[in-house]
Amino acid sequence: MLRGSSSSPHVALSKPTYVYDMTAVGAVPTRVRGWGGGDGVSALLLRPASADALRTALAVRRSPAGARAHIAATGAVARGMGRSYGDAAQLSGGLVLDTTLLRGFRLDEGHATVTAEAGVTIGELLHTLVPAGWMLPVVPGTQHVTVGGAIASDIHGKNHSAAGTFGRHVNALGLLAAGGEVLELQPGSDQGLFESTVGGMGLTGVILWARIGLTPVQGPLLSVDTDCVEGLDDALALLAGAGGPYRVAWLDLLGSRTGRAIITRAEHISDAAGPRARVRGATVSARATVPERWPGGMLAPSTVRAFNEVRFRRAPRRRRGRPEALGAHMFPLDSLDAWPRLYGRRGLVQYQFVLPLGQDQVLHSVIERLRRARVPCFLAVLKDLGAANDAPLSFPLAGWTLALDLPRVAHGLDAALDRCDELVAAAGGRVYLTKDSRLRPEALRAMYPRLQEWRAVRDRADPERLWRSDLAVRTRLVDGEL
Ligand SMILES: Cc1cc2nc3c(=O)[nH]c(=O)nc-3n(C[C@H](O)[C@H](O)[C@H](O)COP(=O)(O)OP(=O)(O)OC[C@H]3O[C@@H](n4cnc5c(N)ncnc54)[C@H](O)[C@@H]3O)c2cc1C
Repeated sequence: MLRGSSSSPHVALSKPTYVYDMTAVGAVPTRVRGWGGGDGVSALLLRPASADALRTALAVRRSPAGARAHIAATGAVARGMGRSYGDAAQLSGGLVLDTTLLRGFRLDEGHATVTAEAGVTIGELLHTLVPAGWMLPVVPGTQHVTVGGAIASDIHGKNHSAAGTFGRHVNALGLLAAGGEVLELQPGSDQGLFESTVGGMGLTGVILWARIGLTPVQGPLLSVDTDCVEGLDDALALLAGAGGPYRVAWLDLLGSRTGRAIITRAEHISDAAGPRARVRGATVSARATVPERWPGGMLAPSTVRAFNEVRFRRAPRRRRGRPEALGAHMFPLDSLDAWPRLYGRRGLVQYQFVLPLGQDQVLHSVIERLRRARVPCFLAVLKDLGAANDAPLSFPLAGWTLALDLPRVAHGLDAALDRCDELVAAAGGRVYLTKDSRLRPEALRAMYPRLQEWRAVRDRADPERLWRSDLAVRTRLVDGEL
């Protein structure tokens, strides 16, 4: 197995508040939170050095010791880099299995695949694969996401219409099941357990490794087309038009002309087609870190409005074929480490939803609803999505997805988002679970019509309901009847 470099997950240690028998196998009391910040919860964190160590530690659960009663009662959940915004990778009072030390991977050029342990990040893979002429077909907006997290959330990239989700390119995966056995799953195997694990938010077991199909690339360069438009409908038209497969629109929702946008469409090019000197590589380095005690009030609507104005004025009205490095284009937020701290102690809520094609007017309605509630949106990103896949809990469906970064301190935020949920659900859309921290069970049920199908597979694989998360408990993903 090749080894890549590490970057530490977003987990803050706190004073131990309790000690259980699991500490004997290395679990430590820790405060765990989502990427959106906030107070977090107390949990026992176990960071095994290998897949075998993880299995052995969990076997304690089946011993007659006190640990057994504790783990059975509180449950366990896998965690990667903690880049899910809400409570998907945490379990209050339970066991959190940090997979970030499972970091081996091997490239098989003959079969155009990479086999990676669950804790390897997208960035670590790209760092090795792209210079070797291979690309992961799907990457998210940050390089700091593990393979396990990418599969459990069935993530999509800026090229979903062309490439589908991450899960579509997984040929096989190893799953540590509730009974302690390791299952090798392939698409269509084990009565839907593969499809229920893809997008299953860690609730079918711990993904230990995956074999992922790759696409050939000539190097770390993209050719990028940029356009500025004055309104949301123009942005939708450009995203639906011809151009490169990586498409995204940044919207300014604080300006006087709501919805003015910068749209980029990008495609891979060979090194020969662009100046090598401008290549900064397949990944991006953090140029600064936001300090831990950043005063939250500094990120006010007036500050962001001014920033947006500068950004919009500096952007070219229309530019074609600019060569840009893959990492800098795909992962712009990674150049500022710990950026959610800009939102202050309470952090942010990211509200990401998808609407089916033909429901574009609901995008306007959601934006208008937040505006009327005086909830400021500091970052808004719009993408087109292609057809849904076979995984019952997978988020994407053919249409438009909008991700909105909203300060948690905003007065009336929860009530406004509850109303937005109703608009989204009535239009046949859904909220993205890996970004969520506040969705209600009835809204979840309305948005995910294949929920019962997923629950049936999950319950068969884990009848004792060992695998749980705060997301699963809050939305009753796991607990069945509403
Ligand atoms: C700046 C930024 C940009 C983003 N852009 C995108 C984007 O463009 N598209 C997109 O789809 N998402 C995007 N995301 C969300 C991110 O890709 C997902 O939340 C992803 O799951 C995070 O991976 P992680 O390793 O941090 O997992 P965590 O956040 O630690 O966990 C996420 C979920 O995966 C489960 N999980 C983690 N590891 C395992 C494992 N080994 N076995 C089983 N379950 C596991 C957890 O239980 C949890 O339910 C973005 C996030 C950020 C912060």
